[in-house]
Amino acid sequence: MTAARLGALDPTVFELAARRVMARCDELARITSTPGAITRVHLSPEHARVNRLAAEWMREAGLQTRQDAAGNQLGLLPAADPEAPVLMLGSHLDTVVDAGRYDGIVGVLMAIEVVRLLQRRDDDTSGVDAPARSPFDFGLEVAAFSDEEGARFGKALLGSSAVAGTWDDAWWELEDPDGTTLREAALEFGLDPGRVSEAARRPSELVGYLEAHIEQGPELHARGEPLAVVSSIASARRFQLVVEGEARHAGGTPYDMRRDALLGASEAALAVERICSTQHHIIGTVGQFEAFPGAMNIVPGEARFSLDLRGEFDGERDRVWDQISRELDDIMGRRRLRWHTREVHNAPALFCAPLLQDVVGEGIRSTLVPGSAVDGSILGSGRPEDPTTLFSPAGHDGMAIGAITDVGMLFMRNPDGVSHHPDEAVSLGDVALGIRALAEAVAHLGAEHRRT
Ligand SMILES: [Zn+2]
Repeated sequence: MTAARLGALDPTVFELAARRVMARCDELARITSTPGAITRVHLSPEHARVNRLAAEWMREAGLQTRQDAAGNQLGLLPAADPEAPVLMLGSHLDTVVDAGRYDGIVGVLMAIEVVRLLQRRDDDTSGVDAPARSPFDFGLEVAAFSDEEGARFGKALLGSSAVAGTWDDAWWELEDPDGTTLREAALEFGLDPGRVSEAARRPSELVGYLEAHIEQGPELHARGEPLAVVSSIASARRFQLVVEGEARHAGGTPYDMRRDALLGASEAALAVERICSTQHHIIGTVGQFEAFPGAMNIVPGEARFSLDLRGEFDGERDRVWDQISRELDDIMGRRRLRWHTREVHNAPALFCAPLLQDVVGEGIRSTLVPGSAVDGSILGSGRPEDPTTLFSPAGHDGMAIGAITDVGMLFMRNPDGVSHHPDEAVSLGDVALGIRALAEAVAHLGAEHRRT
């Protein structure tokens, strides 16, 4: 199918598809471990239920379904050549605790609609319904990843890491807050931990990975634009920091004798804000903060806090960490405190593949600039309608999948930019535009592929 032919589709099909997506987001939101809120974590009974429902919707859209060895739900629309590689489209169905209903979920449901819109059924004279197949040289596969958020075991991207073949067997011993190990949870879910490597895909099996996701910030809303191409996913480092001072009597210890660990840590948290807020695309967050022994009448002798540091570029991020470290030396030296840290996470930035950025851009242009897909007239006009490109400070499944194939992403406007919160939102109209842009992007990639 060509982009032009897709453009000839009645625009109401995209709205109908978006209505189905929104209704299904509502339906999935009711599958939760916490009534009145949305919480759906890895390998839970809720995970099993949403996989079954997603599989049903995939089959109804003509896809061949299976759940892989890591609990990811997959749906395949094969190419005419069964050996042909596939373009993977998807996102995740797990949530954080007390989540919104769109983060991840909307991307999976949009992928199902896109495959439904693009598929071809060959004429069959026998009167039997011919199986649906991909109209491109490559198959289309919808992936609903089982764990992106890491809400249960503290380790994110478990589902997509298994697909990428970067699974670490040490993860089996990770425990959830109830002391259940990942291994025990997998067995209870019906998975065989010894077979997790079967979920891994070879690079040669894939053409690439495309994901639609709500923006988890306010940038598109502020610009008054519905869609953006994602250029890269943030690099991130996470640290647990400990400040050591001396616990002493709150009444009997004069200020000049105090070595108050909490005050040193507080100054450090403020320094993180001061340093990061003056840097372009560097975000530092202190999200956990504790004082010990934690009594009202004792000067805190120890403080512990976390630091989440993200950046568009690894080098810039590392330079800022060096600057923060020097500042901490200074603060703690002045206050006669000691500090040390343990790095608990380090992921490089993931740059979206130029070709996939191009096709997502073409998809957006075809969607927002009527006629541009058909006659290419915009090509000679300096592209005044160049789609917005954003870097994603939030993590996504593409960070893991990037280990085996090219990654591209499409962002949709999120009013107020609220995410990981029940107020998370996206409009029906923007989802309709997003479905069309994603379908156009796939069609553009199909045309590119044929050419090469
Ligand atoms: Zn997400």
